Amino acid sequence: MVQHVDPEVLALVGLGEDGAASRDDHAHLTDCAVCRTEIDSLAQVASVARADDAGLVAPPPEVWDRVRDELGLAQDDPQPAPVVDLAARRRRPSPLWAAAAASVALVVGVGGGVVWERSRAPEAPTVVDPVAVAEARLEPLPDWPSSAGRAVVEEDPEGNLEVVVTVDDAGAGAGAGYREVWLLAEDLSGMVSLGVLRGSSGTFPVPAGLDLGTYSLIDVSEEPFDGDPTHSGDSVVRGGLAST
Ligand SMILES: [Zn+2]
Repeated sequence: MVQHVDPEVLALVGLGEDGAASRDDHAHLTDCAVCRTEIDSLAQVASVARADDAGLVAPPPEVWDRVRDELGLAQDDPQPAPVVDLAARRRRPSPLWAAAAASVALVVGVGGGVVWERSRAPEAPTVVDPVAVAEARLEPLPDWPSSAGRAVVEEDPEGNLEVVVTVDDAGAGAGAGYREVWLLAEDLSGMVSLGVLRGSSGTFPVPAGLDLGTYSLIDVSEEPFDGDPTHSGDSVVRGGLAST
């Protein structure tokens, strides 16, 4: 495909601004009938304008047709007002041509943006990691002086909460029981079991609707295999949740 001279440069050359064209442009213009025709019709507009004492002239219809094609406008769009006083503006590009060139640049820019957006569209949705919304340092109770731990409440983009509990504990597994994670009301008026802690760390969903403002203590208990689902009363570590 032949690379023609930039339409804005052609417009300036047509208005007598030969300096607007580069050395390469001039070399192209000597050979290219298409660009020469373009310049000639623009030069005709300019010379008519200079000869017109009223200083007003409408460009030939074919010029506006080309502008309309460039801008992708419908054929029934109105022609612009007559070009104003080209003779007086021969040292500067006419506002019409500047506006047309700017509009073409804008259309190309917007089109390029759409293409860029479309090229991005097939990407997989971004996976959003859960965000930590509260945490607790878990302090040992007197019977478990060598234990300590941490709990972090995480919220996913759908608003679901889960607690990640870690217990560092030299005595883990030494007893005859197992560990269970609880949410306790601060005044100990209620408790909710979150599940069995296997090993030193586990992740536990928080039941939807449970108010962590009320059930604000994380507690890990040592539970015997006695078939009793209630808290054994033998807490290993415990700590209050605070917003991060
Ligand atoms: Zn050309």
